[in-house]
Amino acid sequence: MLQVASLGSGSSGNATLVRTTDTLLLLDCGFTLKETTVRMAKLGLSPANLDGVLISHEHGDHVKGIGPLSRKFAKPVWLTHGTYNALRDNRFTHTNLISAHQAFKIGDIDIDPFPTPHDAAESCQYIFSNQGTRFACVTDLGASTPHVEEKLAGVTGLLVESNYDEHMLSNGPYPPSLQARIRSDFGHLGNVQAGQLVRRVDHSGMQTILLGHLSEQNNTNDAAYSTMAEYLPANDNRVTVLQQHSCSEWFELIGTGDKAVPGTNASAALTELA
Ligand SMILES: [Zn+2]
Ligand SMILES: [Zn+2]
Repeated sequence: MLQVASLGSGSSGNATLVRTTDTLLLLDCGFTLKETTVRMAKLGLSPANLDGVLISHEHGDHVKGIGPLSRKFAKPVWLTHGTYNALRDNRFTHTNLISAHQAFKIGDIDIDPFPTPHDAAESCQYIFSNQGTRFACVTDLGASTPHVEEKLAGVTGLLVESNYDEHMLSNGPYPPSLQARIRSDFGHLGNVQAGQLVRRVDHSGMQTILLGHLSEQNNTNDAAYSTMAEYLPANDNRVTVLQQHSCSEWFELIGTGDKAVPGTNASAALTELA
């Protein structure tokens, strides 16, 4: 069993909690320590409860609070060499440098990192597994690659980037150079690319699909949601759009290694917990 909750997702800050009954991890810390603490408290948690923090890359919307959090709460941080070297504040209490091609484990969560094409030093993303459940986060990805899609095969939960609506980006306030950077193979996935990615990977076993990293300038919840719906079967109820300014609820992924939960089956095993 894995549970996932977003502390907030979007171009101005990203942080995601992943937990089992024994282990609590934070993926990225894109809010200040104060804001991270406030948002965790809304879920009944404190940074003191964390077993560790994983960082995807050095952009500010993923690392804003990581230095202060690691030092104040004596928390270990996992990240690639390239990300570590590119960070302005990398004075962590404990640093675990990883290879983006080598699996590792924190508590009872298996972690499978993979490199992502993005305009950062050595960006990667992670798949978290426990007892037959697999949760993958794919944000800050300029383009999908065969390697990424191979990694995503069989995941039971997915947080996928749905950064921009093409029409809004083309007609919005961003100068052409910035628009080009966002659309490039080292920028971000838009709503259409997110839908195409989900359609290309086998999504039959996915219990939940979270759309994240939306641009506040160049996207809306409705545009992201309705575009993804075009790539999924009619009345598919697995999709949730994550918000920039508020936490999500917990999304629970039930695995083959979990005891059967009364009233659920494999296709309806997603429980959104209050
Ligand atoms: Zn980002
Ligand atoms: Zn980035």
